[in-house]
Amino acid sequence: MAQKRDYYEVLGVSKNATDEELKKAYRRLAKKYHPDANPDNKEEAEKNFKEVNEAYEVLSDAQKRRMYDQFGHDGPAGFGGGNPGGGYYSYSTSGFSGFEDFDLGDIFSTIFGGGAGRNSRRNNGPIKGADLRYNLDISFEDAFLGVEKEITISRDEKCATCSGTGARPGTVSETCKTCGGSGQVKHVQNTILGQMQTARTCSVCHGTGKVIKDVCDTCKGKGTVRKMAKIKVKIPAGIDTDQSIVLRGEGEPGARGGANGDLYIVVRIKKHSIFTRKGNTVYCNVPITFTQATLGAELDIPMVDGQKVKYKIPDGTQTGTTFTIKGKGFKTINNSSVGDFVFTVNVQVPKRLSKQQRELLVELAKTMNEQPPIKKRGIFG
Ligand SMILES: [Zn+2]
Ligand SMILES: [Zn+2]
Repeated sequence: MAQKRDYYEVLGVSKNATDEELKKAYRRLAKKYHPDANPDNKEEAEKNFKEVNEAYEVLSDAQKRRMYDQFGHDGPAGFGGGNPGGGYYSYSTSGFSGFEDFDLGDIFSTIFGGGAGRNSRRNNGPIKGADLRYNLDISFEDAFLGVEKEITISRDEKCATCSGTGARPGTVSETCKTCGGSGQVKHVQNTILGQMQTARTCSVCHGTGKVIKDVCDTCKGKGTVRKMAKIKVKIPAGIDTDQSIVLRGEGEPGARGGANGDLYIVVRIKKHSIFTRKGNTVYCNVPITFTQATLGAELDIPMVDGQKVKYKIPDGTQTGTTFTIKGKGFKTINNSSVGDFVFTVNVQVPKRLSKQQRELLVELAKTMNEQPPIKKRGIFG
């Protein structure tokens, strides 16, 4: 228990934070650590998410907070005790490291079933359409050179027949009696965070505030139709795994005149058979013969773009030595710097020798004051 982090510290607020400040901090952190927002770091995100929830559960309750202030984690039973996995967690900022930050509003609103999301204060106003995510796998070379890809996504689009109203052209819709046209129905919910008033989308009018008497034949009154959309995506040279490209307005259509959502293309780079990458540096292993290593050689080094670069290694090169070719790595997005190409030589010892080669090597060995191999299974065998 001694290792358990202070609840105020967990939420990053002061001891005399107001309820509003607590709520704000909680919402920010819950968004940040929501497991859906951290696909690459789910386990840790989940731990942090639980920790944040626990802290908020206690501090948002006036009585529990007083007890906590007085007794800390070791206070009387009822809270704080017996929490699994208590301890220090390093705060990771991993997530979407793209050019743009992911808008997690939608993910956040799912935590509370839609009530506490970003749309709650705009009951009758325009609602932005849902953001979409598409995972795109590209080759190492495409990431190096940049590429244009066409992707196909399934998404809702505004119905062309009724212009998204859902009503048969020429007919009008009536104000919904259930929600009075607001599109949302308020109700009180008991949650782990205490009693919360939430607003749910009206099930009669589906949030539109209008009831359609004569529905559009094409979309059956929904105002949207499911379509397969082909979209061209420009992938800039230098992109790395987990970076995303945002296509504004290519998500699902908004409601009540709201803007379309956005489409996030999250890029993943496939493994390459010979190259690896770290940041904008390319790494590669190059096999050389032991005579090349001993005498020095001019090597043809394969570059990611298919070119070859001649590179002279000196005599006496040891296995495992690395060499750097400047400016042959990945481009950096948004600036002009270019990474390097680093290769490591691996000296290959021949497994089979001709009779003549063997004799030459035995002679060589003698000049080096070595004990020549007695049997064929010696070190040169
Ligand atoms: Zn329609
Ligand atoms: Zn309604």
